[in-house]
Amino acid sequence: MTEMPKKNLDVVVAGAGFAGLYLLHKFREMGLTPRAFEAGDDVGGTWYWNRYPGARCDIESIDYSFSFDPELEQEWQWTEKYATQPEILSYAQHVADRFDLRKDITFATRVEKAVWDEDDALWTVTTDQGETVTARFFIMATGCLSEPKDIDIDGVENFSGEIYRTHSWPHEGVNFTGKTVGVIGTGSSGIQSIPLIAEQAENTTVFQRTANYSIPAGNGPIAPEKLAVTEHYQDYRAEARKTRVGVPGKEAMDFALTVSEEERQERYEELWAKGAIPHLGSEFADILLNEEANETLAEFVRSKVRSKIEDPELAEILTPTEFPICTKRACLDTNYYETFNKSNVDLVDIRKNPIRTITESGIATQDKEFDFDAIVFATGFDAMTGALMAVDIRGRDGQSLRKKWEHGPLNYLGLTVEGFPNFFMITGPGSPSVMTNMVLSIEQHVEWIADCLGYMADNNLSVIEPTATAENGWVDYVTATADMTLFPKAKSWYMGANVPGKPRVCLPYLGGAAAYRRACDDVAADDYLGFRFDGSEGSQCNDGLVRRQQPDVVALLEALAEMELPPFETLSAQDAREVSVAMNAANPPGPAVGEVADGKFPGAASELDYRLYRPDTAGPHPVAVYFHGGGWVLGDHASDDAFCRDLCVNSDSIIISANYRHGPEDRFPAAADDGFAALQWVADNAESLGGIPGELAVCGWSAGGNIAAVVSQLARDAGGPAIRGQILITPVVDGTDDSPSMTENAEGFVLTKALMDWFWDHYADPSERSDPRASPLLADSLAGLPPAFIVTGEFDPLRDQGMAYAEALAAAGTPARGIVAPGQIHTSFTAVGAIPTANGIRAEIANELKSCFRALETV
Ligand code: FAD
Ligand code: NAP
Repeated sequence: MTEMPKKNLDVVVAGAGFAGLYLLHKFREMGLTPRAFEAGDDVGGTWYWNRYPGARCDIESIDYSFSFDPELEQEWQWTEKYATQPEILSYAQHVADRFDLRKDITFATRVEKAVWDEDDALWTVTTDQGETVTARFFIMATGCLSEPKDIDIDGVENFSGEIYRTHSWPHEGVNFTGKTVGVIGTGSSGIQSIPLIAEQAENTTVFQRTANYSIPAGNGPIAPEKLAVTEHYQDYRAEARKTRVGVPGKEAMDFALTVSEEERQERYEELWAKGAIPHLGSEFADILLNEEANETLAEFVRSKVRSKIEDPELAEILTPTEFPICTKRACLDTNYYETFNKSNVDLVDIRKNPIRTITESGIATQDKEFDFDAIVFATGFDAMTGALMAVDIRGRDGQSLRKKWEHGPLNYLGLTVEGFPNFFMITGPGSPSVMTNMVLSIEQHVEWIADCLGYMADNNLSVIEPTATAENGWVDYVTATADMTLFPKAKSWYMGANVPGKPRVCLPYLGGAAAYRRACDDVAADDYLGFRFDGSEGSQCNDGLVRRQQPDVVALLEALAEMELPPFETLSAQDAREVSVAMNAANPPGPAVGEVADGKFPGAASELDYRLYRPDTAGPHPVAVYFHGGGWVLGDHASDDAFCRDLCVNSDSIIISANYRHGPEDRFPAAADDGFAALQWVADNAESLGGIPGELAVCGWSAGGNIAAVVSQLARDAGGPAIRGQILITPVVDGTDDSPSMTENAEGFVLTKALMDWFWDHYADPSERSDPRASPLLADSLAGLPPAFIVTGEFDPLRDQGMAYAEALAAAGTPARGIVAPGQIHTSFTAVGAIPTANGIRAEIANELKSCFRALETV
């Protein structure tokens, strides 16, 4: 790129909702020339169009408002906890007037086409009014919920009565007095409007396909304590930016399944009483991850719903059961369920009795015809991608965005698209957007784009575009984030499932506003990682992925960093044990097994504890002796409880977690000797323990993996017991290791090099570390050992030694398979419930264990 091309504008913005307004203001402040086109006759977007009765925000108004100008913040007074549509619209109008934004907006004008001109590095934007403008940057601020879903019910054109759609309600309002009204749709729009329509109409019939979870808004004047936050509004907003949902509040680190039933109910009652949805799904850390945990909240809400409806049959239909709570947007209502107790309100369960067609006089279902004066469609939106794909956007080489997004919206950070230079989206797919307080997310996007344009100006750069690597990486990350949650289980608009034929992908990024902001900031701080720039002085590109670990691992690492715990290696062994026990207690419990029994076995020097996990299936079962992790210093027979349960259930084997003596009190080779004693004792007592004699394997994680590998060698050398297989989960096998993974992952991934050194120091003297009972990789012979399966994590200091062991075993003729789990760290594998992206690898571990056993092969 040489000269700055001729253009009539710096930026064209499509849309003048909250996003368009703030963009205009921001660009004006930067001295740029922006212009917006807005399809509506005025500003406000959502709040301009959705004028149906009962329309309000579902994020409290104190939160659902701009923070970018402290004066604006102070001068505007909201009158209610949840403001009405007219009040929010006046707020948008006030913002437009206050910052004199209307002069840059062309109303009643829809952007129809935008084409990137490669030679001039300009966008040519055409409107439905026949106007064409050119600009360096083109920004779609067209809203996530602005493109209505087509009515996918036959016969609408035949209806002779009045038709209304919630998203484009007549400005003059509608008077339903004396009328019979049919309402189709029970999402947020239906749930807000039905009680008010029913107050007016002579008779209201609601057609429900899927019952929704709704909680009472408890609307009214703003509570004094909430109002008080405006005295330190900017600090409060700063708090909001640190949260998942963009509203200050509790974001639990504990799990629904670890607290008592009483505590759970108490906390759910408090949530219910608050009348707010942002933190519904974050009361416990597992609500959106674990079906059993989710069910505890869902059932609580169901019981509340049932208690509000007098007719038990109606109550049953209105009680939501079809999807996990919070995997569709929860609704907030005022007297929704109570409305169905009125004699002039009917409910039709169209799941059982589907709508056949709209007729001239009303709606015909499979087994009944209804006559109406008016039908209200509250059937939702072609969300997140609808408004973007409605415009014919052409990037490099005439590439069409519609074509590129045929199978789902490929994007980088939900802000940009590869092949579409100088193009940005506000709250686009791939960003947290609709999962958050949208005004906060809009502000974050506008500010990030403004900073980016500032960076470009400062560095004489004129064109920006994400790389394919960055885009693919982000799309994978967004998908991985969704896949670890329960969201894919719902047929929601988040998943594109409400629009026939729309690709089924999770549209928003589910990691939350704060984590997302960190990712965007990290990109900017790393020379705009993943973006290619062209400018008068040439091109620049720092290509790469902004997130390389699995999303739950990233979340865990970020949470740990925030806790600022002292590193284990700075503590005494005793203090480290106490911290480790406390951290363990907070972990989710793992699945139920048939039986858990504690007992004692003779260790090499003294009696030791074991914990036996028996499957809930008919025995006898094969047995795996399991050795816990903790660097020979921390942990005991119960410390990997959740993982042992998981392994027991998924492998249908008895797991015996055997304790061993720990350093520094009992140093090398105490742990190895105790491990071997445990193996011998289990082999000798297999039958009385409920096991199948001879069907014995060993398994261990980390230092426990070391013991499992060592006892396999000791058993070989001692001529028994016979071991069918060794499952080594990121084992320590070489005390002299200095491989690349030890350096690359030395810090930042929980198990650090410093901690590993501390563990070794507590266990074995340097002179002892080459002994194969400490470093099994260094054994003279690795032949004749039980088949091995070795798992390590990509970001694990022990990765390379684990893989080296697999290779060395195989080279010596011992069957061995090693895998590196992408994006995982050392502690991922045993963190059942906390690291769901390792569920697949845990299942593989269990399968490998199962396949060790000959008795099972013949079943
Ligand atoms: P919008 O407000 O949707 O504005 C986009 C504008 O772009 C529209 O005016 C549209 O006419 C215009 N436009 C679209 N295509 C074109 C085109 N091609 N050319 C020109 N103009 C175009 N979010 C919350 O966080 N809290 C809430 O309480 C909340 N309540 C909601 C209630 C309803 C009824 C709905 C539908 C959504 C709600 N949302 C809520 C989401 C809401 O959309 C956002 O909060 C926010 O208003 C979005 O602002 P925006 O400017 O990005 O988009
Ligand atoms: P929605 O949540 O998608 O709900 C649409 C409703 O219409 C659903 O009940 C759906 O049933 C039903 N439906 C769609 N097509 C149908 C058909 N062909 N036959 C029968 N029923 C059909 O849309 P929405 O209520 O407009 O809300 C969309 C989003 O906007 C919300 O999730 C929220 O984010 C936002 N919003 C917020 C508020 C607020 O409280 N501030 C208010 C309104 C909207 P199925 O569920 O079976 O598909």
